[in-house]
Amino acid sequence: MAFDAQTATAWITAAEAAVKADEARLTSLDAAIGDGDHGANMARGLAAALTNIAERAPSTPGDVLVAAGRGIVAKTGGASGPLYGSAFRRAGKALGDTASASAEEVGAALEAALTAIKELGGANEGDKTMVDALTPAVAAFQAVAADGGPLAAAAAAAADGAEQGLAATVPMQARKGRASYLGPRSVGHEDPGAASTALILRALAEVVQ
Ligand code: ADP
Ligand code: MG
Ligand code: MG
Repeated sequence: MAFDAQTATAWITAAEAAVKADEARLTSLDAAIGDGDHGANMARGLAAALTNIAERAPSTPGDVLVAAGRGIVAKTGGASGPLYGSAFRRAGKALGDTASASAEEVGAALEAALTAIKELGGANEGDKTMVDALTPAVAAFQAVAADGGPLAAAAAAAADGAEQGLAATVPMQARKGRASYLGPRSVGHEDPGAASTALILRALAEVVQ
């Protein structure tokens, strides 16, 4: 399966549905170590992404992701809005004007998203953020793609990697974002942003399977 504008749009549509279905779980994760708005922030942001895609009717997968990122930035408060907004915009720009991206090109776009998040937020692996889900996801995706594996296999590996990365945030003490204000009391909980990243990557795996 090719990663074209239709597939990219299907990804954001599936991500919005997944976040909406799990909004209460994301909220309760954020209530434990943050301010309890991550579910609402993500639901609002991805709905705005879909609206912006529908209004602009982009014809390339890159432009779909740029439109998604701009919609998220415009409508999402909190730390996660600018972080996810930049991630999608940077991923879209990395795809250039291709009509149909290969698995390796999608892997490079996911890496660009991770770089954008790290530049903007200053977090590294181990700081208990979305970076801890996205880093193993990008590595797993690229390992499959570099071996000539198809997009579906790479995306499935990325979703698994993100879910493992999410689980690994439980024993971490937060060093970035609101959860860091709790110090050692942030230990013992999943990071909400890592949880939303895992949902978004599972949505990608499902639409390209
Ligand atoms: P806020 O904390 O402003 O209420 P959200 O609740 O929507 O925003 O998002 C919180 C999530 O954002 C965290 O769980 C974490 O994954 C992510 N996050 C916060 N700060 C950073 C950062 N500096 N770098 C990367 N991710 C971050
Ligand atoms: Mg919050
Ligand atoms: Mg908030």
